[in-house]
Amino acid sequence: MAIPLVDLRRQYEEIKGEISAAMAGVIENSAFILGEEMELFEAEFASFSGARYAIGVSSGTAALHLALLAAGVGKGDEVITVPYTFTATTEAISYVGARPVFVDINPRDFNMDVSRIEKKITGKVKAILPVHIYGQPVDMEPVLDLAAKYGLQVIEDAAQAHGAQYRGKRVGALGAAGCFSFYPGKNLGAYGDGGMVVTNDEAIADKVRLLRNHGRRGKYEHLVRGYNYRLDTLQAAILRVKLKRLSSWNENRRQHAELYNELLAGTEALTPREREDVKHVYHLYVLRVKDRDGLQKWLKSRGIAAGAHYPLPLHLQKAYEYLGYGRGDFPAAEKCSQEVISLPMFPELTREEIEEVCEAVTSFLNHLSSSPA
Ligand SMILES: *Cc1c(COP(=O)(O)O)cnc(C)c1O
Repeated sequence: MAIPLVDLRRQYEEIKGEISAAMAGVIENSAFILGEEMELFEAEFASFSGARYAIGVSSGTAALHLALLAAGVGKGDEVITVPYTFTATTEAISYVGARPVFVDINPRDFNMDVSRIEKKITGKVKAILPVHIYGQPVDMEPVLDLAAKYGLQVIEDAAQAHGAQYRGKRVGALGAAGCFSFYPGKNLGAYGDGGMVVTNDEAIADKVRLLRNHGRRGKYEHLVRGYNYRLDTLQAAILRVKLKRLSSWNENRRQHAELYNELLAGTEALTPREREDVKHVYHLYVLRVKDRDGLQKWLKSRGIAAGAHYPLPLHLQKAYEYLGYGRGDFPAAEKCSQEVISLPMFPELTREEIEEVCEAVTSFLNHLSSSPA
């Protein structure tokens, strides 16, 4: 039996009845845009994230775009972030006319190396945009301290980290605003695109609410030039069904990670390290190995899907040539991009499947280390 990287179908089988009822409810009401289900979902997601406000938007990318705008980031500003993330993080910075300034990652947890931020702070820097990569929170205290010291905004990219905790607090509202994605494969995924901005700041919440809906207050009263970035009511209804189960799904992911760690201990693979002051939600379970491409091919030949997140850091992508970075500028990001492999990870994965994956990984690594170079 093939083992996929993510299996959305299995989860659907579990919740099919409730999903059908939720969708039928929306269609019968026919309030497809900014309907009641969306407001209910916003309130539930705010409470889940420990934030005062949550504003539903059309994608994680839209969430980042509007959070940056609402935090006052604009033309000519610089935003400090990492080159080791999905391109949406930096696209959003470009949308507002600002420029991404990269700092390298820590190769052991793949997150922003916070000790490198201060050197990059110039008069143009307006915000820091940490990315909680793979579901593990960035070490936020030094980030927030620097932001306070230099008067910068902190916007969290929490697209992979729904429910993750930093020192007992859920991520998202640790800084000025936090951005979530409900892309189908995320820990909380819609049946299409969706996203959310969370914040404790009323002014930011108001701006995001205005901007996502054509800058509109009344029906034809437009206070600012906005966007059509609303979260669908239908998606919100689906997400409400799934949010109730998110904590238990995240718990399953954590148990799977523990089993993987146990079964892979003693191989050359570097298993993920969870820092002590965080709760990782394992959007992805990522190993580092010397021959990533070889292992990925080997797994594929045995019916096991594995990914590489991310095979080329952003500073080496054609789209970001204009920033003027080159090979060697962010050695940890470059090394990790060659060595990382994501193993199957989703809540419904079974023990037998994890064992099968680990046997396959182990047999490859043993074969490699015993073969002459
Ligand atoms: C998925 C993702 C996004 C973008 O989310 P979309 O909903 O696909 O627009 C942004 N940042 C990171 C780190 C992501 O993983």
